[in-house]
Amino acid sequence: MDNDTRLRMVSLEDALRSTDKIIDLFKDAVQGGLSFPGKNRSFTDTALKIMGLKKEVFETEEALKQRKVIVQATEDRDEDSRLNMDYGKLETYAKGCGLCALSKERKGVLFGSGAHENPVLMVVGFSSSEEDEESGILFSGKSGAFLDAWLRAISLSREKNVYLCNVIKCSARCRDVLPESRIVRSCFPYLKQQINLIKPRAILCLGKTSLEVLMGLRQTNIENNRGKFFFYDMMYPVICTYHPEDVLKDLSLKRAVWADLQKLARYLNLDIVRK
Ligand code: SF4
Repeated sequence: MDNDTRLRMVSLEDALRSTDKIIDLFKDAVQGGLSFPGKNRSFTDTALKIMGLKKEVFETEEALKQRKVIVQATEDRDEDSRLNMDYGKLETYAKGCGLCALSKERKGVLFGSGAHENPVLMVVGFSSSEEDEESGILFSGKSGAFLDAWLRAISLSREKNVYLCNVIKCSARCRDVLPESRIVRSCFPYLKQQINLIKPRAILCLGKTSLEVLMGLRQTNIENNRGKFFFYDMMYPVICTYHPEDVLKDLSLKRAVWADLQKLARYLNLDIVRK
């Protein structure tokens, strides 16, 4: 099985999983009466069937190994105990987390801040800045002030209706960490559960890496993906723009950020304060 087919398989499995979740939610809502075919749901088998592939395509040693990795990753994700925790428990767990190497070099754990119950917007960066590491405050310093101004311009604020977090919770230097790295795979369930619990109306990714992690994309180009709407878990609208740190280095990016923010504001029906 080539990489492209494997990626399509994994995306299809994810889509089936999400559909199943929606059916469960709907089933709860109408108190029974609907069920996904079969009690032992095999998303891999269903995905194979839809794609017209036979199980044997996995049977070379390499392919079998790949399949095990994919299946294991999916199962780990579903069985991860963090996905059953409430907000307080999850935060406490993160603060004592030792699931990856960053736990040994971190200055602290910046789990998340701001409004954590049904905020209008969840802002997701990738990792803490040097200033955040020093201050222990997410999106602090000059780039944080920039972000606050952006939020104010569309009638939002971190104090009232915005939740802020990073993909990587430990505050430590990790600029070269790739989306598919072990660190990200270990930390991603925190973000996944934060979204499940917080239920934002929309998600704003700052920089391309947080978008890649959230949407399972690889090696994207921010110019092509900023300002477009994606849907996480088929229900949360996601839009990406430049990270304030990048804008501080290149002020000409401000124009693009403002265009993305206006698009987001129109989608959420927010007042645009700055013209
Ligand atoms: S980066 Fe995430 S997974 Fe790694 S130790 Fe910190 S909280 Fe745990």
